[in-house]
Amino acid sequence: MISVFGSANMDLVAYVSEAPKRGETVTGHHFRTIPGGKGANQAIAAARAGARVAFLGAAGDDAFGAEMRATLAEAGVDVRGLRQVPGPSGIAHIVVDDAGGNSIVVVPGANGTVTGPSADDLAVIAASQALLLQLELPLEAVVEAARGARAAGVPVFLTPAPARPLPEELLDAVTTIVPNEHEAAAITGVAGVDAALDALLERVEEAVITLGSQGALFGSRSGERLRVPSVPVKAVDTTAAGDTFVGALAVARSEGRAMADALTFASAAAALSVQREGASTSMPAREEIDRQVS
Ligand code: ATP
Repeated sequence: MISVFGSANMDLVAYVSEAPKRGETVTGHHFRTIPGGKGANQAIAAARAGARVAFLGAAGDDAFGAEMRATLAEAGVDVRGLRQVPGPSGIAHIVVDDAGGNSIVVVPGANGTVTGPSADDLAVIAASQALLLQLELPLEAVVEAARGARAAGVPVFLTPAPARPLPEELLDAVTTIVPNEHEAAAITGVAGVDAALDALLERVEEAVITLGSQGALFGSRSGERLRVPSVPVKAVDTTAAGDTFVGALAVARSEGRAMADALTFASAAAALSVQREGASTSMPAREEIDRQVS
């Protein structure tokens, strides 16, 4: 089982030819509400990639919260750890342009009320093969969950997004950090992917820097380095490519696959997801990923 302690947001997505600049108004060509949030996305990605998944987090008592719970449950995710709290659910306001690029504003809502994992959450985490974390919950809560996993010997995958300075107490409990190129530069203050990877490995055991259509770069403290190309595809919407990647990576690793195989599996899953619109709606099923890999 994989546990995900993280955010659930409703994505409010406007599709436009070109994103508006400051002070500018543009007319979009369509709009969708899609259940998302990095935590929920990673949970759905991992479930669709073939794992048993438990989601731990909070949603509001509004219609968005009910829809997010239903969507996670439909994807086969165990939602007993998704608490309902009074007030609005988290939302992400997303603009996707015709080139497949996106810009995002997140308002935390219920996610901001999560002060730490409950005793029940810690028991679920301790019984897992991996814990997936992101930075859309309050940082103290993320640190506590990471420490709980580490104390139980459970590998911790951290997506450091949105990027922010990371305390040592968090990184000490992380096994594998998976930033994109921008997050890696922001966290380390170092320009250049190879140098950023070296800087990350001074603080974490393993790191994977995702590079969009350029693939991904993996490194470990033991000196291993792997460069994984992306699968060449036409990107329609890259929202949640990173979440799909890390969800699939954790599934493959929890099945005992070597890192090189796991990275190939994750790249295949992410390449399938960028060919479809949305976050949770774009994530591939296990059969599709296996077909893409073979
Ligand atoms: P997001 O924030 O949109 O979830 P991200 O910025 O965290 O994404 P990226 O580095 O853009 O993550 O992409 C993650 C992975 O997805 C890449 O390592 C690659 O395997 C795959 N990917 C992304 N964009 C493309 C693309 N255009 N074609 C093929 N694969 C892609």
